[in-house]
Amino acid sequence: MTNGRTALSSEIRRFQAVIDGVAGEATGGRRIDVIAPSTGEVFASIPRCDAGDVGRAVVAARNAFEGGNWATMPAVERGRILTRLSALVLRHIDELAELESRDTGKPLRQGRADIVNAARYFEFYGGAADKVTGDTLPVQTGFMAMTLREPHGVVGSIVPWNYPAQIMGRVAGAALAMGNTLVMKPAEDACLSVLRIAELALEAGLPAGVWNVVPGYGEEAGASLANHPGIDFLTFTGSPEVGTLIQTAAAKNHIGCTLELGGKSPQILFADADLEAALPVILNAIVQNCGQTCSAGSRLLVEAAAFEAVVEELRHRFRALVSGPHDADLDLGPLINEAQARRVASFAEEAEAEEIPLIAEGSIMPDSPAGGFYQPARVYGPVPRDARLAQEEVFGPVLAVIPFADEAEAVEIANGTDYGLVAGVWTRDGARAMRVARAVRAGQVFVNGYGAGGGVELPFGGFKKSGHGREKGFEALYEFSALKTVVVNHG
Ligand code: NAD
Repeated sequence: MTNGRTALSSEIRRFQAVIDGVAGEATGGRRIDVIAPSTGEVFASIPRCDAGDVGRAVVAARNAFEGGNWATMPAVERGRILTRLSALVLRHIDELAELESRDTGKPLRQGRADIVNAARYFEFYGGAADKVTGDTLPVQTGFMAMTLREPHGVVGSIVPWNYPAQIMGRVAGAALAMGNTLVMKPAEDACLSVLRIAELALEAGLPAGVWNVVPGYGEEAGASLANHPGIDFLTFTGSPEVGTLIQTAAAKNHIGCTLELGGKSPQILFADADLEAALPVILNAIVQNCGQTCSAGSRLLVEAAAFEAVVEELRHRFRALVSGPHDADLDLGPLINEAQARRVASFAEEAEAEEIPLIAEGSIMPDSPAGGFYQPARVYGPVPRDARLAQEEVFGPVLAVIPFADEAEAVEIANGTDYGLVAGVWTRDGARAMRVARAVRAGQVFVNGYGAGGGVELPFGGFKKSGHGREKGFEALYEFSALKTVVVNHG
């Protein structure tokens, strides 16, 4: 027994940290068991890095930044290494997809799509590395003024468990393309793909110390990294509570940070929308990754005239949803861990106590392993606007349906939470689509579509308490660089 759970006898795979170009153990030799959410059993272990390991990684990253050639290498060469890494990731797709799926519990095809996306980040930023330019600025005669984009230096990155490979790709791709070096602390619950891809990066030719990965607990390795005085810039994706700690640490060290802290993203469905086209997308936006997606479409705002028809459709569609182990490749996998499954269940208990109507729930595959962290997909409505279910991020497969009377009320409800990450607008009226897209306070707005988690090319980030800063797309290259102004007096 390990961690009070039965280990799968023979095949406990031991993964390594990557520090200064070497895959190895934490200095203290301690390890963390990794539990498969589908079974509740231990199937792998990772090093438990501590403050000493983080310190070693920061020194390695500093040396690689200041003494190495990464930042001064022609941008095209940096880009080629990232492009080679993209190809290597795809060459290992079968291994990595299985790993991602087993580690997070997500159905196999989702695990595979995540690895393809991770590779796509390295491809995108590999290609973008030599396309970052500055401006020339009109100043007085006799002077030439220009702006240059320069790397921050050593970037500290803390990655969550919900999309380990994708979030690793979007951070590492952009930060490294700009010439930064990186110390990354992935999540203790799921990080195996990150550790493997960091090893592949060495194979792709990434110089030692440029990208270090220190797995471990948040309060230990994570807090050490966030507070380390040798870090020049921090980037974090995860819970608002930890986001506060990260921003406080950044403030103490007078460095910048980007925070991506989740959402309660609305899908606004007008009665004139193409329901047949909308409903599968709306369903997928909450079912994908078992609802553990920061940009999950977790609120469905429906125009009153269509409410009954939409509820009827949702009833059928949710009843048909089946949760089960990752390798059964069903609609949904398990939640990441016991605490997350309990959290989801607590929302269901509260909804019942508050007599919020349960429109429908899905099922759990009958012979799913008893130790797995399963919860069925659920849809509730009408949900009062101020209910916890309508305000808080569940981070599970739970959709809150809320009726609205007209466009103004739809916008008011959409904007009526602390969050502002993504929104969807479904209508055949083009002018209304534009008005609502502009009025909704969210970092991304989709019209007649929805892209939870997707869009390597699209700048992504929050308004309000969803965080600040932008990742993905070209915009991330600006976040991971500092602007320098050079003025030359040429007489
Ligand atoms: P978390 O914020 O605790 O963990 C995210 C990352 O931060 C992990 O790598 C973790 O090890 C690290 N971390 C934890 N404590 C830390 C600390 N004191 N200092 C530095 N790093 C620390 O998230 P969680 O506990 O895994 O999940 C809790 C809730 O967070 C979820 O229910 C969900 O609402 C939210 N969440 C959001 C996202 C997102 O993408 N926005 C991702 C994961 C979790």
